[in-house]
Amino acid sequence: MSRKKDDTAVIEPKANAHMDPYSSMLSRFYVAAERVGLSPDEREILSRPSEIHIAYLPVAMDDGSVRVFESYRVIHSRALGPGKGGIRYAPEVNMREVMALAAWMTWKCAVVNIPYGGAKGGITCEPKKMSVGELERLTRAYTRAMSEVFGPDKDIPAPDMGTSAREMAWIVDEYSRLHRGNYIPAVVTGKPLELGGSKGRVEATGRGVTTVILQALQRMGRRPDGLTAAVQGFGNVGSITAKFLSQNGIRVVAISDKTGGVYNESGILIHQAIQYRDNHGGTLEGFKGGERITNEQLLTLDVDILVPAALEDQITARNASQIKAWLIAEGANGPTTAEADPILNERGITVIPDILANAGGVIVSYYEWVQNRRGHYYTESEVQERADNTIKQAFDDVFTRAAAHKVSLREAAYLLAVERVVRALRMHGKY
Ligand code: GLU
Repeated sequence: MSRKKDDTAVIEPKANAHMDPYSSMLSRFYVAAERVGLSPDEREILSRPSEIHIAYLPVAMDDGSVRVFESYRVIHSRALGPGKGGIRYAPEVNMREVMALAAWMTWKCAVVNIPYGGAKGGITCEPKKMSVGELERLTRAYTRAMSEVFGPDKDIPAPDMGTSAREMAWIVDEYSRLHRGNYIPAVVTGKPLELGGSKGRVEATGRGVTTVILQALQRMGRRPDGLTAAVQGFGNVGSITAKFLSQNGIRVVAISDKTGGVYNESGILIHQAIQYRDNHGGTLEGFKGGERITNEQLLTLDVDILVPAALEDQITARNASQIKAWLIAEGANGPTTAEADPILNERGITVIPDILANAGGVIVSYYEWVQNRRGHYYTESEVQERADNTIKQAFDDVFTRAAAHKVSLREAAYLLAVERVVRALRMHGKY
């Protein structure tokens, strides 16, 4: 690939002083690459995305104006299979963020041993301020722009922050129209059940986060009953994790979203909080289930378990020394900067890394894709059993590796992932 010098700044692979998500991803990758013994070429290949697609999407707005939205689809690697990863709709979406998210999908799919590479999409927009019609036109425009990028054997999108089954339905409809009306449900996962979605997909990520927390507790010889947890973020991942944690006897004393948080020492009633959110424009603003706290305060509460399930870069070199939880499970992608890792490690805090902790979603996406291709559909308990076994196996692999090499769970997860991806890369051969 030849590029002019000026074009390189944004995909410069060096980890730079400011820890943006891509730099955080790279510095962990470089450590693993060194230990696994990657050649300089292999390091070079995997430190960059394999493809970046950018499209500017003109969309007719309800008021008659036309707005142009910037959108991306980044494929980081296809060494282990087709690109796989969600599509994010958020105002702060930018290319380096999507590049990081795509690479994390590569490592995530490799850690849990599903036959996918890594990809991610994003559109810089404010979905909560757009009408359903505007969102549909935007999603269809994006699908048309990416129609040669997506494909059931090429690149398979899914929901992420700001998107859900509704957007996936528009994608499968538009994509199928573009392919002479052949119905192609396997091009996207996280679809509504009626259009070939999988039972258990909506709850899959939160269920997986809970499963790995329970496994970690078991390994540490701790029982869940009576432990306390704080959950940052109350979207699909945060709210469902909070629900499952409380069902397992863990007292969720704090939750939050963009608008701030709530603390209640005797435990938040999660089903009430979910109901409140659903009836109040999707936010917890004004929820009376406890005293108001900030997101920053939530992170440093005196709890046993902390689940960052919101955005990237929440646990940083600035606040890592104040964290009181002894177990962190990363529901979000990239909530901890690479600079915070050594601080948490030195303090003996166990971190179940994002690429393992939140893999429950993509695992059930994989089973959705398998069901679409076989035309045979599983019951909810069949899906759950398969997904639970897959994430438990991955947890055991990572835990065993960490113990054997005396490294953190994050380092062990990266070692396993990089090893698996590079083995496949070598088998593909040189071209
Ligand atoms: N967006 C989710 C993630 O970050 C799910 C991706 C998928 O199912 O492909 O893992």
